[in-house]
Amino acid sequence: MSNYKFNDNQIAIIEKLELNLSIDDVEKLFFSNNHSWEELEILLKVANALYRSGYPIIEDKQYDEYLNYFKTLDPENPFLLSVEPEVLIDSKTVPLPKKMLSTDKAYSLEEIKKWTERITKAASEIEFDQNLIEIKVTPKLDGYAAYDDGTTLYTRGDGTRGQDITRAFERGLKVAKNAGRGLGPGEIVIKKSYFNRVLIEKFENSRNIQAAIIAEKKVDEDVQKAIDKGVCVFYPFSLLDNWTGSIEELLSNFESILESMWNSVDFDIDGLVLETTNAPIKEHMGSTRKFHRWQIAFKVNDESAEVEVLKVVPQTSRTGRVSPVAELVPTKLSGATLSRVTVHHYHMVKTNGVGPGAIIKLVRSGLVIPKIEQVIKPAEPELPENCPSCGAHLIWEGDHLICPNKSDCPAQTENTLIHFFKTLGNVDGFGPKVIEKITNQGIKHIHEIYQIPKHQFVEFGFGDKTSQNLIDQLQASRQIEIEDWRFLAAFGVTRLAGGNCERLLQHHAIAEVFEISVEDLVKIDGFAQLSAEAIVEGLANVKEEFFKVYNLGFNLSITSKESDRERSDSPIAGSLIVFTGSMQQGSRSDMEKHAKALGANVAKSVTGKTTYLVTGDKVGETKIIAARDKGVKVLTEQEYLKLIGEL
Ligand SMILES: [Zn+2]
Repeated sequence: MSNYKFNDNQIAIIEKLELNLSIDDVEKLFFSNNHSWEELEILLKVANALYRSGYPIIEDKQYDEYLNYFKTLDPENPFLLSVEPEVLIDSKTVPLPKKMLSTDKAYSLEEIKKWTERITKAASEIEFDQNLIEIKVTPKLDGYAAYDDGTTLYTRGDGTRGQDITRAFERGLKVAKNAGRGLGPGEIVIKKSYFNRVLIEKFENSRNIQAAIIAEKKVDEDVQKAIDKGVCVFYPFSLLDNWTGSIEELLSNFESILESMWNSVDFDIDGLVLETTNAPIKEHMGSTRKFHRWQIAFKVNDESAEVEVLKVVPQTSRTGRVSPVAELVPTKLSGATLSRVTVHHYHMVKTNGVGPGAIIKLVRSGLVIPKIEQVIKPAEPELPENCPSCGAHLIWEGDHLICPNKSDCPAQTENTLIHFFKTLGNVDGFGPKVIEKITNQGIKHIHEIYQIPKHQFVEFGFGDKTSQNLIDQLQASRQIEIEDWRFLAAFGVTRLAGGNCERLLQHHAIAEVFEISVEDLVKIDGFAQLSAEAIVEGLANVKEEFFKVYNLGFNLSITSKESDRERSDSPIAGSLIVFTGSMQQGSRSDMEKHAKALGANVAKSVTGKTTYLVTGDKVGETKIIAARDKGVKVLTEQEYLKLIGEL
């Protein structure tokens, strides 16, 4: 959600633009709806610089609206005729090895049709066979544009000069699909699923992360982890999956091409890139100063609506966090009627003025949950002082209001119990209604539920049959086998949902996880410092209850330990291997993967620490002698296969 108050990073970038305007005056431009063309030019320059540097202030669509309006006012303005440059704080520019242009945009099938007509026309001008015209469609990655010439990684800059951001590779950034360097233009992107699962609480949007990857200052540890895990990559356009076909096929299947491309990558995309692959046509059509005429981007607009807030209602979750839920004047958006939306947190309610009577802009792309994009007209926010469930005085913890009453807050209790049975997932009967009825009788803990005798269920107001069923269900929930990680996840520790529980239990037995230190936890792949701290604290909070429940006896299947796997007893476990030359048995990269699976470490070059150099065909004698001189054992591919027992 953008609010129009610049943060320190944004101010630093705006100051670099040397606008002769105070920051306050620039801020005012973003509040106004009425601009002279001079003001609009400044607004566009600022918005663009902020966007390119990773700190966007307005949404793309709004920028495009301003830009289109500006075009009508001043079509010859130099700003419109050059590639919008990004602004990085304190960095020199260097010439790009190849010109990088931006892409012309289309927002409707009609505009795409017009573009294909220009291609057909160009083909006929050079007497190119119309039947041979081929169109390629790729997803338009919404990342950070860069160019990799094999030694240096450049930002796009103004299209001819960019900045050297090779440090991104030095930090371990990988090329998508494990490809090598030097594949030219592409985008630095981060996997959407990982962002939503791991980073969303810390970063407002993925653009902040792209900015962190290339920034000169030290990389944030969670971003470094994402780089190390290979979920942030440099994605060269040439590696993207694509659709190719004739103009006719393109236009008649446009919807389905759009849909399949949209789902072809786990990265943010904001449209499609269409281009002709026919070199003679490309050459004939050429480029403007800003973009290639033989290429166009199709962008999909999000649907948005301006909605009035009726009131903001606090809701206490099982962790004690109080979420602000905005009730709205019912509004249709992308085919659904919306009457409420969750605001990110109460800090946002407070600073952006999400109060009764506020006008907010809701955006929905496709079927995604709608979110508040902007507060158009703020109103006095109402901040709850007390927990809506237990009345305890709320406290601030970071951006959130928290109910500190961990032991006696009905909302927290109820939600904790509901979460337990829902996560266990092996019985029904303990849904929200039943849990509410039970907690109303003063039952606050999972272990207490297991100790309720049948006659007490009857006293609580359940029928005789229902009471018996509840007893049976409780018994079944202990007898039916469930995974130990699922059992642990059922206790609802923050940042310890199923995936993380499984990862944790691959290293530690379930009853021992309460003794793990933060230092131990960050050693396990997938746990960053902040998560580890939250997890260790959360485990301590549930420890007592956990053992009361655990000791009731559940039928847990144990997650297999990483150390039990084949790797520990393989003959190459712990050794450091370098593969060189071409292999008979499979590709070198397959052999490397296999060696890793057997517990070996794999390196690219031989050092004194190398255990084995495995040589395929065409390996020079000097390389082998040099390795032997370092005390490295040299194996042929056959000898290696014998060693690992595959021959
Ligand atoms: Zn409470």
